[in-house]
Amino acid sequence: MKIVVVGTGYVGLVTGTCFAETGNFVTCVDIDNRKVDKLSKGEITIYEPGLEKIFIRNLKESRLKFTTDLKTVIDTADIIFLCLPTPPGENGEADLKYVLNVADQLGELLNSYKVIVNKSTVPVGTAKLVKAKIAEKYKGDFDVVSNPEFLREGVAVEDFMKPDRVVIGTSSQKAIDLMSSLYSPYVRQGNPLIIMDESSSELTKYAANSFLATKISFMNEIAQLCEKLGADVDSVRKGIGSDDRIGKRFLFPGIGYGGSCFPKDVQALLKSSESVDYDFKILSAVEKVNECQKIHLVQKIGRYFGDNLSGKKMAIWGLAFKPNTDDIREAPALEIIKLLINKGVTISVYDPEAMPNVKREIGDIVHYASNQYDALSAADCLIIATEWSEFRTPDFDIISKQLKEKIIFDGRNLFEIEHMRKLGFYYESIGRK
Ligand code: NAD
Repeated sequence: MKIVVVGTGYVGLVTGTCFAETGNFVTCVDIDNRKVDKLSKGEITIYEPGLEKIFIRNLKESRLKFTTDLKTVIDTADIIFLCLPTPPGENGEADLKYVLNVADQLGELLNSYKVIVNKSTVPVGTAKLVKAKIAEKYKGDFDVVSNPEFLREGVAVEDFMKPDRVVIGTSSQKAIDLMSSLYSPYVRQGNPLIIMDESSSELTKYAANSFLATKISFMNEIAQLCEKLGADVDSVRKGIGSDDRIGKRFLFPGIGYGGSCFPKDVQALLKSSESVDYDFKILSAVEKVNECQKIHLVQKIGRYFGDNLSGKKMAIWGLAFKPNTDDIREAPALEIIKLLINKGVTISVYDPEAMPNVKREIGDIVHYASNQYDALSAADCLIIATEWSEFRTPDFDIISKQLKEKIIFDGRNLFEIEHMRKLGFYYESIGRK
């Protein structure tokens, strides 16, 4: 099939590359000249495990192309995917300006039947809005389909190639047939392709992310209780996770959820609820709990060192909002940096992939170390903010030599408490004795 993907960020680049991988001819469109230039030259623009190899292969086979000019590629497309940003608007609602802007362009450019697929995370009713926008200028036949994306950054290629499910929201049989045929290589193992109406499909994405965020906030509250009652969150987690109805995943407490999706999607669903006079009580609490959890580790640091942190030097391991990505959008580490810098702390950081993005965002207000141990040099303590694999079994001798004192604040519960005690560290983690 011939596919056009509009928006070549985390979702668009993975989507385009993975569709090319099964033999489709894909052109990715973006307004960012620099991005398109780099991608056309075979330089990948995001860090995503496994992506570069298939990106290069499909580029060489000419199944994957990049352009800034939507007009020149539209005629050839059977399906047009919108993978555009939907950031929070002024009041927290999803801002649809990018999506509707491209819909407007499509209205001018379409001249034969196409399926327009919305892969961006958008509120209920957006498929109708996109359809109406296109129909203002194009009077021919076309369909607008909702096809939310559930990939997880860090394992995005695997998730795309073998999705737990594919959700397709449309009432058009012609669109169902085309989409089913496109996705058939990805659901061969029996993972379901679930067809539903547009509104249900749009809501499914928000419900999924909000449910996962709820799980995280719930466990963070249990962790808070563990600290106060003298229980151990690891034991509680194992105790409840072995129940199939609860499941083992997403039960790890930490320093709050971040990333480009959960915070904005929880906010947007709350706004959608408000707009129909529905008070989504659980979700409001999920958001509130997350805000508190983001400052929990800094509060622990304050309790240990005392309120005056001015002049202290601290090292942070991990900046990305989670491991195996360079994405720093809403990363809890950035919140920690902001809070500590305001208190007069000097900070040295290390992250295997995210440092260039952090430097672009906050500049040189922190020192960027060349490896995880250099970051510790003469620091008063180590703070762990992202659970990259290489932080899990570090050389504690080097850590001891580099730090001024053997103090670790671990927001990801990477180490055994007993082991740390034996090594002589002052070690604080989340929800453990
Ligand atoms: P992104 O910011 O990484 O990428 C968006 C891209 O769209 C950018 O490259 C931008 O330059 C481009 N763009 C903006 N306006 C354009 C236009 N008029 N024409 C062409 N390109 C344009 O965003 P993302 O993380 O890929 O997310 C895209 C959507 O997918 C969002 O709605 C997000 O909520 C959703 N989503 C994201 C993830 C994720 O893990 N990142 C997962 C599932 C769903």
